[in-house]
Amino acid sequence: MEFIEQGSKNDILYWSKRLYQKDMSPSTSGNVSVRTSDGVLITSSGVCLNDMNEDDIVLIDYNGNLVSGNKKPSSEKIMHTEIYNCRDDINAIIHCHCPLITAFCVAGKTMCEPILPDFALMYNEIPLIPYYCPSTIELADAVADCFSKDNNVALLKNHGVILGADTLQNAFYQLEGIRAYVQIYFGAQVISSPKSLNKKQVAEIRQLYIKK
Ligand code: 13P
Ligand code: ZN
Repeated sequence: MEFIEQGSKNDILYWSKRLYQKDMSPSTSGNVSVRTSDGVLITSSGVCLNDMNEDDIVLIDYNGNLVSGNKKPSSEKIMHTEIYNCRDDINAIIHCHCPLITAFCVAGKTMCEPILPDFALMYNEIPLIPYYCPSTIELADAVADCFSKDNNVALLKNHGVILGADTLQNAFYQLEGIRAYVQIYFGAQVISSPKSLNKKQVAEIRQLYIKK
């Protein structure tokens, strides 16, 4: 992979394009941000993640006010800043409307079935936040409340998903892993029904990784 400075505009451009190209953020949906020493770099509003250039990324402060740039910051800016304000271990955030993941959000289902060892290792449950109108303070507050309880990812009912990590690269890989979970879950449902690992198998995989 080409060298990309973490937490830079190029970092946002690179992972934004991958999100679009991997069908994880269709049309003009979704937004991406990183924490910097000067504030938060975030994608601008209403632009397809695949078509962005450096001018489409703006700097805001931790209250969502524009610090530099000529574009309108993402309408979900407060959802991003509230997470940074309550979690100093999170430096990068992706919000997208990945169709497969959003199918769970529309069905009103949390992800909690340990159908794969890697899922069982990472999560007990990916919570589902009730529906709030996109871009509102009510949505931002509900997401911040969920992240303050040590969740790094949440499903947004009838909307999409939001995920935070230490780097954008790790946020992208985690999101891709969740999308794979959904694909496998749906596939298993078509064939018969998903069969989860049992409690012993979940404990075993968790124990193995604690020892490493
Ligand atoms: P923005 O284009 O304003 O970032 O909004 C996209 C979105 O996903 C709204 O929820
Ligand atoms: Zn959205």
